[in-house]
Amino acid sequence: MKPLRIAILALQGAFAEHQQILQKIGVDSLLVRNLADWTPEEFDGLIIPGGESTAMLRIMNDEQLMTPVRNAIQQGLPVFGTCAGMILLAKEVDNETRERLATMDIRVHRNAYGRQMGSFYTEHDVNGIGTIPMTFIRAPYIEKTLQQSPSNTEPVEVLSVLDNHIIAARQGNQLVCSFHPELNEDLRFHKYFISIVQQSK
Ligand code: GLN
Repeated sequence: MKPLRIAILALQGAFAEHQQILQKIGVDSLLVRNLADWTPEEFDGLIIPGGESTAMLRIMNDEQLMTPVRNAIQQGLPVFGTCAGMILLAKEVDNETRERLATMDIRVHRNAYGRQMGSFYTEHDVNGIGTIPMTFIRAPYIEKTLQQSPSNTEPVEVLSVLDNHIIAARQGNQLVCSFHPELNEDLRFHKYFISIVQQSK
């Protein structure tokens, strides 16, 4: 069997850190910086990193990546969106009308933790994974899950709740979290994504 390969959207934000984690777990990756790099036949999953969602969306549009990436996800390409990546995948975002990928049935609140709690660290439980370190940086959270749309074959499964807010969820092959698992040494969340990719093959 061909070894797995994961594409990482590298327009802006913490893509290099995701690549390092994949290296540590022995998974090959490639960086997608523009439309020419978007070669879905060469990879099995996609990571959309944290960063600044508005900047990422602008570059995605400029590079004409929005439609091909959305189509691939809707056709089942496994995707892992962290922080800003989660915002890009959300069907609804508070006070935001900018075009997004909008493939996952969640409503997201941006910069949800306010100024005081802008960035923080905690350790918390994720269903099926256990207690893991979590670094939040001007993080969004999931306000609520939405009714399943026709483009999705499964409902949203909540994986972690912190102080009454959903901070990790999965819908079929789409996995999202509010925090930055690539900024800690723990490899379990990435391994969980890789298991989704393996199952999808
Ligand atoms: N606040 C950022 C945004 O709205 C997300 C922060 C992050 O990815 N660390 O895009």
